[in-house]
Amino acid sequence: MIRLPPFERLRPNTFTEASQMLEAHEGEAMVLGGGTDILAKMKKGITQPRYLVDLSTVSGARYVDYKEKDGLRIGSMTTLTELETSRVLQERFPLLAKAAGQVGSRQLRNMGTIGGNLSQDTRCWYYLQSSFGQKCTPPCFKRSGDVCHVVKGGDRCYALFMGDMAPALIALGATVKICESQGEKVIPLETLYAGDGNRPLGLEPHHILAEVEVPVPPPNSAGAYLKLRQRSSVDFPIVGVGAMIQLEGKNCLDARIALTGVGPAPLLLQEAGEILRQQEMSPEAILQAAQAAAKEASPVSHMGVPAGYKREMVKVHVKRALEKCLEKLNYDPK
Ligand SMILES: Cc1cc2nc3c(=O)[nH]c(=O)nc-3n(C[C@H](O)[C@H](O)[C@H](O)COP(=O)(O)OP(=O)(O)OC[C@H]3O[C@@H](n4cnc5c(N)ncnc54)[C@H](O)[C@@H]3O)c2cc1C
Ligand code: SF4
Repeated sequence: MIRLPPFERLRPNTFTEASQMLEAHEGEAMVLGGGTDILAKMKKGITQPRYLVDLSTVSGARYVDYKEKDGLRIGSMTTLTELETSRVLQERFPLLAKAAGQVGSRQLRNMGTIGGNLSQDTRCWYYLQSSFGQKCTPPCFKRSGDVCHVVKGGDRCYALFMGDMAPALIALGATVKICESQGEKVIPLETLYAGDGNRPLGLEPHHILAEVEVPVPPPNSAGAYLKLRQRSSVDFPIVGVGAMIQLEGKNCLDARIALTGVGPAPLLLQEAGEILRQQEMSPEAILQAAQAAAKEASPVSHMGVPAGYKREMVKVHVKRALEKCLEKLNYDPK
């Protein structure tokens, strides 16, 4: 059995207090959500915080609240099982319930929170090795070294963001509320990510993700989340696609497509969306958008998946996700 290293658990009552604790122990403290990711990393000796600021003691941080006028609000300590089984999500935001239901295993979804899922670290086999494995390879950028073992001669870290919830939420235009000791701010979810495999979140260490907000779905719109993984039981996505389409007659009024598993941050596709907007939803338009997605994704070969295969899978799954949206809207593009 691998034991956890010693640490002190701090129990804030509010997010402000939690942020103050992080500030007071800067460099030594980290946030604890459901612990499914961070405790495993601590056991492997990948990260060794002296203090864990446990958000489970923050009151009122676990809720799913939907109002037809204001949209959806999710407290950051809401578990993935609560999202998967939420009646509101199943009826109004089925892609979110579906994405939540595809994270890891039942046990992980019971413990794992939406805040932790969106804030999770990037992944790479070289970084996630046991402490013995770490001694056998020279330290790479993500372990304060000066090489990358994935991209030889690379000048940065290419570790992958592989969260399932981010692309589904980004497709729906979600924002997140970030709390700090001095106040709070609301930012589009896609801007939470820095695009740097080494330090994936563009947040200060004392910033805490407090809430996720999703606008009311526009009329005549539908969304889909598709995930390709090696093992259908428990696995991170090789590629995940979140898509939302709004139609006006035969024309696409709006299209938002986001990917996971293709780079150090979830990717909101610009060109694919542009191609679809304001044109008739034909098989040709869908194919064009899917091809543009594969080009924009530009993945590298990583974690046993060749870049060419991943690009092809982006094309296939973007096409299928768009078709799924249209099927839900009872629109046949043929
Ligand atoms: C075997 C296995 C399979 C997995 N499969 C998947 C998968 O298929 N898809 C997927 O998306 N994930 C997967 N995961 C990753 C993880 O379990 C989930 O993403 C989970 O939702 C993380 O949530 P948590 O609350 O447990 O996070 P924690 O482990 O508590 O935290 C994760 C990180 O986020 C930070 N953090 C937590 N909450 C906040 C907050 N509110 N504000 C700021 N920072 C915060 C922590 O400091 C830590 O760095 C898997 C993990 C394992 C071990
Ligand atoms: S992508 Fe390269 S730098 Fe980043 S964790 Fe992996 S080996 Fe290290």
